[in-house]
Amino acid sequence: MPDDVIAYDPRTALVVVDVQNDFADPSGSLYVAGGDDIIPAVNDEIAAARAGGATVVTTQDWHPPATPHFTTDGGTWPVHCVRATWGAELHPDLDIEADLVVRKGTGGEDGYSAFTVLDPDTGAASPTGLGGYLRERGVQRVVVVGLAADVCVKATALDAVAAGLDTTVRWDATRAVDVEPGDGDRALTELRDAGVRVVGAEP
Ligand SMILES: [Zn+2]
Repeated sequence: MPDDVIAYDPRTALVVVDVQNDFADPSGSLYVAGGDDIIPAVNDEIAAARAGGATVVTTQDWHPPATPHFTTDGGTWPVHCVRATWGAELHPDLDIEADLVVRKGTGGEDGYSAFTVLDPDTGAASPTGLGGYLRERGVQRVVVVGLAADVCVKATALDAVAAGLDTTVRWDATRAVDVEPGDGDRALTELRDAGVRVVGAEP
């Protein structure tokens, strides 16, 4: 199989990370530059996954209005993806019918990975249930796309590969926040070093 081909079958899951208005719409509160540009590529992967009989999972950041995750409460990020608001909705151009929706950070945790959330005070990780869900379905391979490359996509892919799943990130179907310039490039290196296959990246 050529290096840049992603094949889908019933033992594969596509995980579409956080393609939500606050990240993917230019008027969103934590807009990731180019976040809307990836949607056609993400939709292509969803269609290919469906055609191959793969499992399709989507995630949503889904925060309470006040959480230590936000700068307003001493945390890292501007207020974003507050549950049941426009910003937390999936982008309307996303053509998704998911088998499972994983909502992250619902109890005020730092929800980065689709597999685990972190206690904002202690950093202790607890599972979201996605790992068990995929195991029950016999999934062995995971493809990760969405937002953002250097935050939630990276965390999801690193957890997947650590769980023993064969893990691929389609790099042209993600974009980086780049809070610090170069974060996206560093994420790419970190993913490859961890054993994640990255396709669609500039050589
Ligand atoms: Zn968040």
